[in-house]
Amino acid sequence: MSDKKQFKTESKRLLDLMINSIYSHKEIFLRELISNASDASDKLYYKALQENIQGISREDMAIYLKADKEQRTLTIEDYGIGMSKDELDSLLGTIAHSGSDEFKKALEKGVDNVDIIGQFGVGFYSAFMVADKVEVFSKKYGEEKAYVWVSDTSDGYEINEASLDHHGTMIVLHMKPNTEDEDYDQYLEQYRIEALVKKYSDYIRYPIKMDVTVS
Ligand code: ADP
Ligand code: MG
Repeated sequence: MSDKKQFKTESKRLLDLMINSIYSHKEIFLRELISNASDASDKLYYKALQENIQGISREDMAIYLKADKEQRTLTIEDYGIGMSKDELDSLLGTIAHSGSDEFKKALEKGVDNVDIIGQFGVGFYSAFMVADKVEVFSKKYGEEKAYVWVSDTSDGYEINEASLDHHGTMIVLHMKPNTEDEDYDQYLEQYRIEALVKKYSDYIRYPIKMDVTVS
């Protein structure tokens, strides 16, 4: 069953800023998505500790990156806490992250892009700097059903039942077509992804594993 929704006004504005006002440092989208994957893994780990759930150890958790050059998709997958249907709606449909108000004000003031990007966690919506369609497959830990949140931003988002064979989240970025000014194919190149992980995500305490499909 499909469930089509519009972004809240504030979120729509932030998305528009993200898509239309930031021309540099688009590469930080990967830092943001990996940091979310790491947070979600932490959340499950702490839940397991608190509730004495067996079989979940930090050592077993990893974050997986997969580039498919033919499909032009980059996938970021975690085995963390996941999101329920309601959480997909509330967390991804509204501005959830703390830095976003400050971020928006700074952008509107016209502060240099580079400063802003470095200063604030710009969050999940930064995916739309490089992708024109984003799918978020997620299964909440302990729940049966998985759902997919999908948006191409222009027309809001949709949440549908989906299948995912593990708890956690799999984000599929459909990369924008290259333009004269902007090369999005670079984010499907293993060496480039590795460099970004080293540059921005070195501190992440989960292993980050990489897989590239060439054709
Ligand atoms: P922040 O990380 O600062 O909270 P984001 O915009 O990056 O803000 O993410 C918004 C929220 O969406 C997160 O707080 C989290 O609840 C949820 N979320 C995003 N990515 C994931 C993920 N991979 N697994 C579980 N929840 C996620
Ligand atoms: Mg975040």
